[in-house]
Amino acid sequence: MQKTKYIWLDGRRVLWEDAQVHILTHTLHYGLGVFEGIRAYDTVDGRTAVFRLNEHIDRLFESAHILQLEIPFTREQLIDETLALLEANEMGGGYLRHLVFVGDGMMGLHPGTNKVRVSIAAWPWGAYLGEEGMEKGIRVKVSSFVRHHVNAMMTKAKAVGGYVNSILAKREAVALGYDEALMLDTEGYVSEASGENIFIVKNGVIKTTPLTSVLKGITRDCILRIAEEEGYELIEERFTRDELYVADEAFFTGTAAEITPIREVDGRNIGAGTRGPVTERIQKRYFDIVKGADARYADWLTYVGKPVGS
Ligand code: PMP
Repeated sequence: MQKTKYIWLDGRRVLWEDAQVHILTHTLHYGLGVFEGIRAYDTVDGRTAVFRLNEHIDRLFESAHILQLEIPFTREQLIDETLALLEANEMGGGYLRHLVFVGDGMMGLHPGTNKVRVSIAAWPWGAYLGEEGMEKGIRVKVSSFVRHHVNAMMTKAKAVGGYVNSILAKREAVALGYDEALMLDTEGYVSEASGENIFIVKNGVIKTTPLTSVLKGITRDCILRIAEEEGYELIEERFTRDELYVADEAFFTGTAAEITPIREVDGRNIGAGTRGPVTERIQKRYFDIVKGADARYADWLTYVGKPVGS
């Protein structure tokens, strides 16, 4: 990973190397914490903008609310500090990681009065599932690990500990030579990947899983808007793995993964075994939007630094 100069920790900017925590940090032991992954893009006019910053910060607060973590900053403070950090790091586009975690103090499962701490880090990060995957599609394995039951983990919270399930699935898929893992829900229907939502396309109709067992992806929400605008019929309905096997196209969505085509699942080609035309069209629209080339979506971008001309 490419280091940058500063990390924001508990209200102040510290040098990257100095952003340290105590070994008895509660979250390190038990996983109670929430986070966000956000992207900033270099826009067509030469500036840098954070994509859907408000929605990500809102989700961070919702995740914290679900897990009963009181964030000791306001939304506005975190937004301002995010933008100031990107400016101070002079890094242009990249990835942002907001983490809300429980500090040290009491041990034992009850977090007691331990301080709720917040950090923001930012660093340059390219295509999460590889440049080639963005064009040709990736190979996916249906995991032997089941996604969380909705009453075991809180699936609407982007919770630190929830990602143990994702890591188990991801490691299994990679060890078997695949790029990404797709998990089924506790009833056996398609749920989500280790860090992405999924869409399938059949006869021009786009389908995605309902939000029941999956994270309410912000990229997923973008696709719903784009698909509607492009005139596609879009259905939010659960589907089975064999419906995915016989789809014409399939793709993952996520802040890190952006729009990543799926070319193969469990050794079966999806459609022609390459990126399909609907996926390509949606991908292009998405990249235009994040780079500020589509004026209709200007309110999804929060620019870093002063506006041009001021
Ligand atoms: N599901 C999971 C489990 C994720 O980790 C992510 C990434 N945050 C997503 C879906 C996609 O969410 P988003 O588009 O908001 O990044």
